[in-house]
Amino acid sequence: MEQKGRLCLSFCKFLWFVLVFAVLHQKKRIMTIFVDMDEVIADTYGAHLELYNMEFNAQLKPEDCQGKGVRQCVPEQHRPLVKEYTSRNGFFRNLKVFPDSQEVLRELCKDHEVYIASAAMEYPNSLRDKSDWLDEHFPFIPWQKRILCGDKFILKGDLLIDDHYRNLKPFEGRKIMFTSPHNIDVTEFERVDNWREIADKLL
Ligand SMILES: [Mg+2]
Repeated sequence: MEQKGRLCLSFCKFLWFVLVFAVLHQKKRIMTIFVDMDEVIADTYGAHLELYNMEFNAQLKPEDCQGKGVRQCVPEQHRPLVKEYTSRNGFFRNLKVFPDSQEVLRELCKDHEVYIASAAMEYPNSLRDKSDWLDEHFPFIPWQKRILCGDKFILKGDLLIDDHYRNLKPFEGRKIMFTSPHNIDVTEFERVDNWREIADKLL
């Protein structure tokens, strides 16, 4: 009887050890995380509106553009000019950083493999600007962790944070849509509105 009790105690200790190990192991799991630039860490939409308002003496605000890309938000005759904004040298160099993205990414980098992934080849002139912008605002993410690419379906990892349906849809891991005026009506993905929400989910 006494031996049975000892056996039972040993078994319970073993179970406790397995449980603690599993919890610790889960906490330490290193994820490969891809983070988009435009409309995730860089305020590209806001820069479009700022330029447009300045050049056309307009008062467009993000709230006026819900569910639309910037070009759909302006009169048709202005669209060709707005389309050219992203081809201007320096456009991507001067974008504002989204609040808390630096602090949260710095923390994520301590525990995970974090890559910046931007479909920058859509705007070849943006490559230098984006690299310089990252040097200034995210110096803790080295060049080895910066993927300036074409289609993002080639990305294989645990998590993609992006604002575009076309990038999130084919990704095989966890997908988080970062809210931008243009994607407000998309309901298919897990969504965050800001970097504090990403911190709550991932840190
Ligand atoms: Mg983007």
